Amino acid sequence: MALLESRGVSKAFGGLLALRRVDLAIEERELVGLLGPNGSGKTTLFNILSGLLRPTGGEVWFRGMRITKTGPVERSRLGLGRTFQIARPFAHLSALDNVLVGITFRSRHRQPSSADRRREAEKLLETVGLGDKAYWQARELSLGEAKRLELALALSTRPTLLLLDELASGLSPKGREEVIRFYGRLRERGLTIFAIEHSFRVLAQVADRLIVLDQGSIVADGRPDAVLGSPRVSAAYLGEDDG
Ligand code: ADP
Ligand code: MG
Repeated sequence: MALLESRGVSKAFGGLLALRRVDLAIEERELVGLLGPNGSGKTTLFNILSGLLRPTGGEVWFRGMRITKTGPVERSRLGLGRTFQIARPFAHLSALDNVLVGITFRSRHRQPSSADRRREAEKLLETVGLGDKAYWQARELSLGEAKRLELALALSTRPTLLLLDELASGLSPKGREEVIRFYGRLRERGLTIFAIEHSFRVLAQVADRLIVLDQGSIVADGRPDAVLGSPRVSAAYLGEDDG
């Protein structure tokens, strides 16, 4: 049984069909990349998988449970975590306090001691390379740092599966290299990852499998070399990759 499944998921915004019967399955410990031109429905799909949006049709399954109508908080507690394309930590809290909020939020029933929570928060910040910025306010961080804080926040809920939305976008080539290393590190932690990147160069280096959306439909799903060599994918992407 797959860890996460989308079965015939469709989404209409008024007259616009943003997703058309999307069927996909993510297996445990896979790192799957989601690609597609701007407006192809990638973020909408993640919003449906994470519970921010209800699909117009179809179902979402996670760990053998139908979660189509489960809200985002409950999904996060089931182990389905996510980051946002636009990082949105609490701007006026320090990086450390942001992560502490995530840890507190996770532990509804049994709160770890405040010393344990703090140690865990510091460790998470180190994991994402923000150990030296723990006391900076989130709004003082650069774009790349804010994205890493967002990742630490997502990790603080101890997800089984992480939905990552464009971690590498807007970063310098060096920042992108770091993101590629992060993907490797996340996988070493045993996480299952479903990641959107606008640039297929980033995902081609790390993913086990690539899924390509075009105008709300899946047009390819397979090994990276096979997918990137497919004429349908090059046609959808012509001139789109930004490095
Ligand atoms: P991507 O992330 O692949 O760039 P999106 O999922 O953001 O694409 O958008 C897919 C399509 O759905 C686009 O045409 C977009 O304009 C539209 N769309 C996304 N969210 C909404 C919304 N909340 N209301 C109306 N249209 C939306
Ligand atoms: Mg998007």
